[in-house]
Amino acid sequence: MKQLHVTGPSRRKFLKLAAGSAAIAAISEPAPVQAQITTKARIVIIGAGAGGTALANRLVRRLVGAQITLVDPRKEHLYQPGLSLVATGLKPAGYVVSRTTDWLPSEVRLIQEAAVAIDPVAKTVATADGQTLQYDYLVAAPGLALDNDAIEGFSLDMVGRDGIGALYAGPEYAEKTWQAASKFSETGGVGLITRPETEMKCAGAPLKHTFLIDDITRRASNRSKAEFVYAAPQGALFGVPIVAEKVRMLFADRAIETRMHHKLQSIDAGRKRAIFAD
Ligand SMILES: Cc1cc2nc3c(=O)[nH]c(=O)nc-3n(C[C@H](O)[C@H](O)[C@H](O)COP(=O)(O)OP(=O)(O)OC[C@H]3O[C@@H](n4cnc5c(N)ncnc54)[C@H](O)[C@@H]3O)c2cc1C
Repeated sequence: MKQLHVTGPSRRKFLKLAAGSAAIAAISEPAPVQAQITTKARIVIIGAGAGGTALANRLVRRLVGAQITLVDPRKEHLYQPGLSLVATGLKPAGYVVSRTTDWLPSEVRLIQEAAVAIDPVAKTVATADGQTLQYDYLVAAPGLALDNDAIEGFSLDMVGRDGIGALYAGPEYAEKTWQAASKFSETGGVGLITRPETEMKCAGAPLKHTFLIDDITRRASNRSKAEFVYAAPQGALFGVPIVAEKVRMLFADRAIETRMHHKLQSIDAGRKRAIFAD
């Protein structure tokens, strides 16, 4: 049986529906009215991050009678785009942290355990505490794992010391990154910003960090004491050509040097040296 969804969403429901990249489209165009579907499907979603949470909200709106289960050991939801603001002192660390349950409709069951195994033949997911979840449909949305060990000589406990920053690993590290960056914006020196060769959570984040720290250093009238170098393994500053060209022009305007085709291999924290694969 199909039902038409006709009621307008409340602001909170709208925000839930629009979570993630769908937000821009939903704000610029009215959401199309979609038919609801009645089903007894058991849907398991691994990961209650931006993707899993947004999908769970959408499914609740579309499906009547479905059993939707999210599996994630983390109680907190991290608004990761906000890490760029924490790492530049514009927001406190707590700005990016909320409770996962704040974003879930009551129809969704949240199991606060890690998924440890999937059996696609039996259609089950095993959790760390020994539960076996049956599914008809499975969505795996566990996000990306950071490979900090890929940089020789680097570990997360170094962040915030010896001028080292790394903003991807969470609010604590973004805050420590600001401690190092804030000192740099006062004293100057060589500010080296890198990005990995692999896929990453946000290719714009190192660019945003470069622009913001440059701006903060200028506002503190210390820009003449600072040298900015942006080094990346890729041949362009961004994957979308028109954006790459705009960033190239803005970097030139702001005297931010670039070293393309440079893959960071290791760091020597004591001597403040970065060694590249070439
Ligand atoms: C610094 C930074 C800046 C960013 N800026 C932007 C931006 O400006 N615009 C933009 O669109 N995007 C931005 N992003 C990217 C955006 O945050 C990610 O694309 C998005 O969070 C990915 O969502 P996800 O659901 O795939 O993964 P995540 O949000 O990382 O969620 C994955 C979830 O899976 C859980 N999980 C992992 N393993 C298991 C397991 N075995 N069992 C159960 N659960 C598990 C984790 O606990 C986590 O909650 C940024 C990211 C960073 C780090």
